[in-house]
Amino acid sequence: MTVRPEPAEGDAVDEAISREDVAESDLMTRRGKFRAVAFRDGHEHMALVYGTPTAHDNVLVRVHSECMTGDIFGAMRCECGDQLDAALDRIVSEGSGVFVYLRGHEGRGIGLLAKVRTHVLQDEQGLDTLDSATTLGFPIDTRDYRPAAKILKHLRVRSVRLMSNNPDKIRALEANGIAVVERVPLLAPATDHNVGYLTAKRDRLGHDLPQVDTFSSGYSYNRT
Ligand SMILES: [Zn+2]
Repeated sequence: MTVRPEPAEGDAVDEAISREDVAESDLMTRRGKFRAVAFRDGHEHMALVYGTPTAHDNVLVRVHSECMTGDIFGAMRCECGDQLDAALDRIVSEGSGVFVYLRGHEGRGIGLLAKVRTHVLQDEQGLDTLDSATTLGFPIDTRDYRPAAKILKHLRVRSVRLMSNNPDKIRALEANGIAVVERVPLLAPATDHNVGYLTAKRDRLGHDLPQVDTFSSGYSYNRT
């Protein structure tokens, strides 16, 4: 018994993930029961499926890049942990959806050690999240979203409502055959700790983060 529904007529049968590279079980969590679909595609990743995935279209989906510091330890210099919580809460409140957790995405793909080294430059030299990476000789973003597209196809999800503020992620999924019919904003509150990070993502990576404007204006208002 798997969470993967039988193919509907007209579905392309996608065998991009072979049997030996996928395993699944029920997973009771504090939010309720998910189907945990572990899969291997380069790294080992996880898709958490909530509800009955009988609908193939307009599925509420989060494609989340691993961030150990934010997701596990609650680091406040980025908003990853807040987004993880908010996305799972939204999936549960809507009654169905898929949360794809992608490994190998630390620091936009540069790895955990490199990410921590960028933190040193950010703290000591005031560089932002992009300049601290390039100063160390790392690319700005090397994340590969193909595993997310593969698992969504495996789950026979054809089109998604994607919880994201990142237009690059939409382009990457669509380039890999997943139609994004709607972008659902996933806005974590700006704080003194993350506003520098959010501002760089807004201004230099084109993320849609309107909460930064509100925070900035409130901040300058308080200073005068
Ligand atoms: Zn993070």
